[in-house]
This record gives sequence, C-alpha cells and structure tokens, in this order.
Amino acid sequence: MKKETKIFQAETKELLNLMVHSIYTNKEIFLRELISNASDAIDKLKFKALTDTQILQATENLNITISINKDDKTVEITDNGIGMTFEEVVENIGTIAKSGSKAFLKSLEDAKKNEDLNIIGQFGVGFYSAFMIADEITLLTKSPYSDNGVKWSSTGEGNYEIEEIKKENRGTSIILQLKESEIEEFLNEDNLKNLVKKYSDYVKYPILINNERVNSTKPIWKILESEVKKEDYNEFYKSNFHDWEDPMFNFTFKVQGNLEYSALLFIPKNPPYDLYTREYKRGLQLYTKNVFIMDKCEELIPQYFNFIKGLVDTDELSLNISREILQQTSQLKTIAKNLERKIISEFEKIMKNDREKYIEFWEVFGKHIKFGIHENFGLNKDKLQNLIIFKTTKDYSYSSLNEYVDRMLPDQNEIYYAIGDNIDILKNSPKVINGIKKGYEILLLTDGADEFALKAIDSYCDKKFISINDVSLETEEEKKETKELEETNKSLLSKIKDSLNNKVAEIKLNPELGDSSVSMSSKGEVSLEMEKLLSQIPGNEGVKAEKVLEINPKHPIFKRLQNANDEELKDLSDVLFCQGLLIEGFPIENPIAFVDKLNSILSK
Ligand code: ADP
Ligand code: MG
Repeated sequence: MKKETKIFQAETKELLNLMVHSIYTNKEIFLRELISNASDAIDKLKFKALTDTQILQATENLNITISINKDDKTVEITDNGIGMTFEEVVENIGTIAKSGSKAFLKSLEDAKKNEDLNIIGQFGVGFYSAFMIADEITLLTKSPYSDNGVKWSSTGEGNYEIEEIKKENRGTSIILQLKESEIEEFLNEDNLKNLVKKYSDYVKYPILINNERVNSTKPIWKILESEVKKEDYNEFYKSNFHDWEDPMFNFTFKVQGNLEYSALLFIPKNPPYDLYTREYKRGLQLYTKNVFIMDKCEELIPQYFNFIKGLVDTDELSLNISREILQQTSQLKTIAKNLERKIISEFEKIMKNDREKYIEFWEVFGKHIKFGIHENFGLNKDKLQNLIIFKTTKDYSYSSLNEYVDRMLPDQNEIYYAIGDNIDILKNSPKVINGIKKGYEILLLTDGADEFALKAIDSYCDKKFISINDVSLETEEEKKETKELEETNKSLLSKIKDSLNNKVAEIKLNPELGDSSVSMSSKGEVSLEMEKLLSQIPGNEGVKAEKVLEINPKHPIFKRLQNANDEELKDLSDVLFCQGLLIEGFPIENPIAFVDKLNSILSK
C-alpha cells in the first residue's frame, strides 16, 4: 500500500500559515465549511448514482454525523458521500485549486496592499479553515471507485502524510485534534448544536449529533417566506452556493396549477469569481419532492440569467429519473419557461418599487440583460427590453425606456441617445448640450453593450433609436440657411475632403456645435462606437465607420479655412480631422505630425 509524505504547494502554505496563526476572528465558521463539504460530497454521490446505480442502495440513509470525543479531545465530522480516491485527495486537499480558497488568496493580496486585514473575516476558506481550531487534522476517506481507503494527516506546517488504508465504508471522516485553547468551546455539545443551527440549519441532509437530528427537517423553500429570517436565507445561500458574501437579494416562487413547483433564487452581490470564464456552468439545483436530484441543471435557466443561483423543487419528476431523460422531459422545459417569465416580472417589480435596489442589481448584472437582448438576433428582446435602464440627461439618473417615452416632447419622433466613455464626456459633448438646449432628453450610453442592445431592440413604442450625432435639431429655416452656406462653400468643402483622402466620407457644415470647431459623426451601418469596439476584437481591426467631419461655420477657424492657401488648408484640414477623432475618443495615427502641424499653425 502506498504511503508518502508530501509538501504543500507555496500558495497553500501561505493560506495554512494564516489559519494556523489565525488572524481570523470568526473561527467557528470552520464547522459550516466542513458541513458544506460533506453536503456537497453527498450531492455528488447522488448525482453520480443517476447514471451509476451500483454505488448507492435506495434504502441507504445519507447523512452527516458530528461526534465529540472528550478523552482524545477530538471532534469528528463524517459523511457517507462520494469520498475521494488517493489521487483526488492529493488534488483536492493538497493544492489550492478550489473556489473559496483561490478567491480568498486573491483578495488577501489586495488586502495586504491596502493593509486591510479585516477583509479576511468575510471569507469562508474551505477545508483549511479547520486549522484555526485544530493542531492536527486527519482525514479518512473512501471512494466507491477505489478498493482502498485513504488516510491523510497534517499539522498544517509545510507537509502532509498520505497513505492507503483499509476502509469499509464509503465516505469521509474529518478528525480534528483540537488546539488546547479551543477545547472548551468546541468539545461542548450544546455549543456545536447552536453552531449547526446558526450556520447550517437548512443543509438538506440530516446533521446528527448523538443520534439526534439537529438541523431543520423542513426545507427552507417549503417554509413561508415571511417566517424565514433573512440570516437563514443568507446562511443557506452561502453554504449551498459557494459564496462567502451574503446575496444581494433573493426571491421565492410557489407556482400552483398544471405544473407545480417552488423556486428559491438568489442574486449574488458580486459576479461569481469564475462567471466570465469558460469553466463556469450555469444552472439551478433541482429537487423533486424535497430530494436533491442535481446541481446546476442548465435547462432550468436561460443563458442571460446565468448569474442567478438557486433551486427548483417539483413533485412532477420521478425520484429515480436518469440524467439523459431529465434533459428531455417536457416538464422541465415548461418549468423553465414559466420560471423565466416569473423572474422577469420580479425584476420589473423591483425596478418599479425599489429603484435603488434595482440600480444596485443593474450595475453588477445589467450587461447580462443587454447581451440577452442582443444575442440570437434579438430573439428575446421583447421579453427583456423593459428591464433595461439608462442614465439620461434628465438629472443624470436612470430611466427605463418606458419612462423616457412618457416624457418625450410632442414633436419628437425618435428616441435620442449619445455614446461616450463616461457621463462627463457626454455632458460636455456639443451635440448633447445642443439637444438639451432645445428641450430634448437624451439617453447616455457609456457601456459598449448599450448600443448593441438598442440596435437589437430597433424601436420602442414605434419610436426608432437615433444617435444625437445623426439628428439635426435645426428648424426648417435654419436647415435652409446651412444648405445655402454649404452651397456657397462647395469648393472649399470638397478641397478639404480631397486633402483628407479617403479618411472621411463626407464634410458637412453644422452651426449647432456651440464653442466647438468640429465634430465627427458617421453614416452607414457601422457607427463610430462600433468601430472602436470592434477594433479590439482580433480579426475586426479593418472594420471602419464611414466618418463625417462636421465643421462649425460659426467658429473663427472657419474664416481661416476660407482664407487659407492650398498648403495651409491641407494642414488645417488634417488638424481638424484629428481634433474630431480626439473628441470622439479615437487614437490619432501620427501624434507627432499632429502636434507639429498644430504648432506651425499656432505660430503663424
Ligand atoms: P470547495 O468546497 O470550495 O471546493 P474546500 O477547501 O472546502 O473547497 O474543499 C476542497 C475540495 O476537497 C472539495 O472541492 C472536494 O473536492 C474535496 N472535499 C472536501 N471535503 C470533502 C468531503 N467531505 N468529501 C469529499 N470530498 C471532499
Ligand atoms: Mg467547501
């Protein structure tokens, strides 16, 4: 039988060092961590048993047992879950590859930079947290896929021992040799019971101390929402969905009728650490008749709600349903459809009744909704468009499209928007200033996904979206005047265009630019913002907007253009074009040449 002494990897050592010399104030959370691992292990066993019926007898009770040994000064947490093979122990317990720990280490680095070690108190750090209260930890485990068991032990100081052993029962025991200083607290049965109640009350498997079930026998989602404490929802969330922070909020549904189900859903406070990685799997936990079937059932939730955590419990599915059949059952599809509608209407309600809460949600997860609107050629836009909010020029707070349309001026036939890197830039944009002056409200788009969402929605209440850059707010009279001015300066404008080669598609005069000499807009399908966005995606660098350079005929520089000789005109045109680029947030191709030309003009 194999027996080895191994060294912890460097990251692990750092974490262990922290635990052993615990600067953590909240030591008791180790119990929550070990119980949640035990519960996960039973989940995994049950999930495997869906396809491998050998590993679990229908009659077997699955549970978590906590036992106290006063003579040895040990506490033991045992589960009959999936257990681990030798390799799995090395992989899972010897290295920090795991969610909680990795995110913890990252925050620790940030915290160290800011000398803010308080942050540590906010984290659950998984298995290793047990070293806060134990001098030595021994783990005994057996996987159904291995003939032997494994014994792992460590004092948390640099290395661990691992060996194959004889072990009959499937599952894992964690034996904690308590530190002298922790004996009083953790050898105390009542205290342990209280901790189970406090942190793990709604763990779905029985937690037994002295053969007595300590945790609630009723699943949390089967209890009336008004009767559950907020902390209980929060603790349930943290121990069930691998987060160390309370959720932003949660909601529950009890649906009756043709297809009955309950759902308990959580919106995390921050995006799960791996949400934007390929490894991330969306999905809700699925229960039938209170019994856990599987984690991350992706059929239950659409891609654009992938950040939502939670569970669905329905009586409609058979208990020993197989995984393959599960994916095809029409009940599941019906529930998913109904659930999606419910979630959307819940968000709409929050938007209406608690704007502050909605804005908090929107600022973290709004982009998911925007992508949801845009993806699949706008397939879901009708469902999602009422969830979108934008800051607007009306006091720069958020408005829904509906609210915007309600406030539109009677003569306004289109919804105006402006795009820029941030609100301050937009506030100072000559076109935005001009629009506000004329009494219009403008949506302010500062996120790359905003424009794509609007393009997908196309029109709202029969009003098309149009960039304020592409609107002329001149009166008919003024328009006529500008046309005439363009006519009299026709040859000047075409000279400017020629000297800029193919860089612009058109030169226009625009008397509505206030104090600015120029502005840039686009014509055609690709907008300036899209060009910027696409230029960052490899392979799309060549996609260019057809740029329109707009010159302010009221600006003194226009006089200079009119009086310039050919050589001066060329320099002035170049400089104005570059100014247009800069105003719109584009880089200029040759900054040195730009500065040289500008200087030569200035020194004349
Ligand atoms: P996390 O639970 O976030 O993955 P932990 O440090 O709590 O991180 O646990 C590390 C890993 O060790 C788990 O992902 C799991 O693979 C394994 N593990 C821990 N406890 C058990 C257990 N009781 N049974 C089976 N595997 C376990
Ligand atoms: Mg864990």
